[in-house]
Amino acid sequence: MKATTGASIRSRIAGALRDWSVPRQLHGQDPMSTAAESEGSRTTRPRLEEADRVGTSICPYCAVGCAQLVYAKGDDVIHVEGDPRSPINQGTLCPKGAATLGWMLNPNRLTTVKYRAPYSDHWEERPLDWAMERIAQLVKQTRDETFVQRLPDGTPVNHTLAIAELGGATLDNEENYLIKKLCAGGLGMVFVENQARI
Ligand code: SF4
Repeated sequence: MKATTGASIRSRIAGALRDWSVPRQLHGQDPMSTAAESEGSRTTRPRLEEADRVGTSICPYCAVGCAQLVYAKGDDVIHVEGDPRSPINQGTLCPKGAATLGWMLNPNRLTTVKYRAPYSDHWEERPLDWAMERIAQLVKQTRDETFVQRLPDGTPVNHTLAIAELGGATLDNEENYLIKKLCAGGLGMVFVENQARI
């Protein structure tokens, strides 16, 4: 092992004193750091200062449903942050919610319906109305083909076990109530679930 010499120790101490922020501050023009800001921090302004209006929204990423303030300039959203008036999140957002602006503006974001036909190896773009109509037709067809009124022993069930529904996390109580009414009460679906687990 290489022996540490007195010169190398002195050199290390000198380097530490030179690089350490405290001695640099004490030797500078503002030893008490009363005006410790760079040109960058002096001139940087919050994005929302440029906004010409602000709207409210709800974070779409989980069942907590944090309230958001959405700032816009012209036709562009320029900032999203937590709404301090919300009793749920009180102005805060977790990293997912705080990334809302980046996800909104992401060039890879899907904004159209993608459809992959059975046995196809590629996606096609379709209009939203077409997708809704196809879903409705398939639900109707499947229900008609699989609906069971009575079990073999005569017990009435009025159900289908061939369709399932999985709700999203940000559905509210009223939406879930209507979904349950439609799927279970109206269509006779047994498997009605929700992704929310908070
Ligand atoms: S906890 Fe995070 S992901 Fe869930 S609603 Fe709030 S900000 Fe969005």
